[in-house]
Amino acid sequence: MLLNVFLWNKSLKVKVHIDELIERISAYNIKENSYPEMVKCFVIMARTELARKMKLYGGSGCGKNKGCEICTEPGHCLEYGIPNMDIPIENIPLGIKEAVKETKNKIITFEGKPIKPYFHYKCGGATENSENVIGNKITYLRKVFCKYCSNVEDKDKDKFFTLEELESMLNIKITKPENEYYNINGIFEKVEVDEEGRIKSMNVGGKKFKGTEIMNILNLNSTRFNYMPVRFLISCIGKGHGLGLCLIGSEKMAEIGMGHTDILNYYYTGIEIDEMQLPESDKPLKGRIIVLDAASGLGDINEAESVTGLKEGEVNFFIASELRKLLSDNGAKVFLTRENEEHIVLSKRAEIANSKKPDIFISISQNTFQNETASGTEIYHYREDNEGKELSGFLMEELSKQLKSNRRGIREVEFYLLREVRCSAVLIELLYMTNPIDAEKLASPNMQKKAAAAIYEAIKKYYMAQGY
Ligand SMILES: [Zn+2]
Ligand SMILES: [Zn+2]
Repeated sequence: MLLNVFLWNKSLKVKVHIDELIERISAYNIKENSYPEMVKCFVIMARTELARKMKLYGGSGCGKNKGCEICTEPGHCLEYGIPNMDIPIENIPLGIKEAVKETKNKIITFEGKPIKPYFHYKCGGATENSENVIGNKITYLRKVFCKYCSNVEDKDKDKFFTLEELESMLNIKITKPENEYYNINGIFEKVEVDEEGRIKSMNVGGKKFKGTEIMNILNLNSTRFNYMPVRFLISCIGKGHGLGLCLIGSEKMAEIGMGHTDILNYYYTGIEIDEMQLPESDKPLKGRIIVLDAASGLGDINEAESVTGLKEGEVNFFIASELRKLLSDNGAKVFLTRENEEHIVLSKRAEIANSKKPDIFISISQNTFQNETASGTEIYHYREDNEGKELSGFLMEELSKQLKSNRRGIREVEFYLLREVRCSAVLIELLYMTNPIDAEKLASPNMQKKAAAAIYEAIKKYYMAQGY
C-alpha cells in the first residue's frame, strides 16, 4: 500500500510504501542491535501510528497538506521521531526489514481502533497513567510496574542550574534566599509527587508547573527527579514522559526471551494485536469519503434548459444519485450537497462538503454556449491540485469513451467552489445542453446511467493508480 507523504524539509509530495515508512521510522527510533522481539514490538507500534492517521481507519490524514496521509513536519502528523527520507534504503538494518515482514499487517488496537502507541526511553520503575502526562484518561495507557529497566545506568541524569538560569528558562522571578545553602523556601515549593516518585506538579518561584513542563523546559531526562539547593542539581530517574512502552524495559524483556505480543500487552493495557484491514479487492473504495455535488437546483437562475425542455438540475441530480449507489456499493461513504431539487448556494455547498472531511469532491454540471455548435466534455480542477488533475485525466478518459463525446479539455481554473472545498476537487461539464446531439444523450436515462458508471470507473482507476 502506498501512502502520500509530504516531505516537510523539501516541500514535496511523494508516494512511499507503508513498509518502507515503517522501516525508516523504526531505524530512526531504536538501536541497531536491538533484540528481534523488541524490534517486532516497535515495527508494530510504528505501523499502528501510521494506521491511526490513515483515512481508511477514520483518521484525518494530514490536515496541512492536501491529499497527504501524513507529513514529516516534526510534531504535526506523527509523534514519533521522523526519519530523513534521503538515507538509502539499503542502510536500513536487516533485522528491521525482517521484523516488518514477519509482523506483516499487524497493528495494536483497542476496541477495534488503532491505539496511539506512546513510548519513552526509560520509565525508571513504573510507566505513567495518561492523565498525569497528557491530561486525559486513556484506558490502555495505565501505569504498569517495570522492573526491567532499573539496572540500566543513564548518562546525563544529573543537570546543574544556577538561579539565574532557572529564572530565564522558566520565565520566573525568584526571591533570593538569605542563605542559599540551606533555604529553599520560595524556590521549589508545593511539590506533588506520585507513589512512584514522579513529580506531578510544583511551584517554582511562585509559579505552578507540571512535572512534565519542568522536564521539557529544563530538558531533564524524566519527571522523577530530586534537587539540591546549592547548585540546583536536578537528578533524574528514568528518561522520557513515562507513557506507554518503555524502550529499555522492552529491550530487557526481549533479552530474557519474552515475545513481542507479551511485551506489547504488558505496557498497553487491554489491547489486542489485530490484522490491519487492507482495502479489499471487491470493495476498492472502502473507507473513502466522497462528496457529490449536483449543480443547479430548482430556482437557480443559471440552470440550463435544452430546446426540448430538459432541465440541467434534474439530469445532474439523477447522475449524482446513480453514482452514489455505485460508490456506496463499493465501500465508499458518499454524501450529496443536495438531497432534493432545491437549489443551494455555492458557499453552503462548500460548507456541507467540508463538514464531511471528504477525500474527493465532484461537482456535476452541464455546459451551454450561445449557439448549438459547441459539444463535448470539459473537466476543471483547481490550480496546483495535482490529485484533482490526475482524477480529471481518468474522468475524461472514461466519460468520452462511454458518452462518445468530444474531449474538449481538462483545465486549471480558480472557481470559487473548487477553491473553497478543502480536498481534491473537480467540476465536470458533462455535455452541452445547447447542442442537439448532446441534449438528446442527456435526456436518455440509459446515457445518464452510463455517465454515472463512467465517473465511478474513473474514481476506481484513480485510486488503483495510487496503489490500492
Ligand atoms: Zn501533517
Ligand atoms: Zn521501564
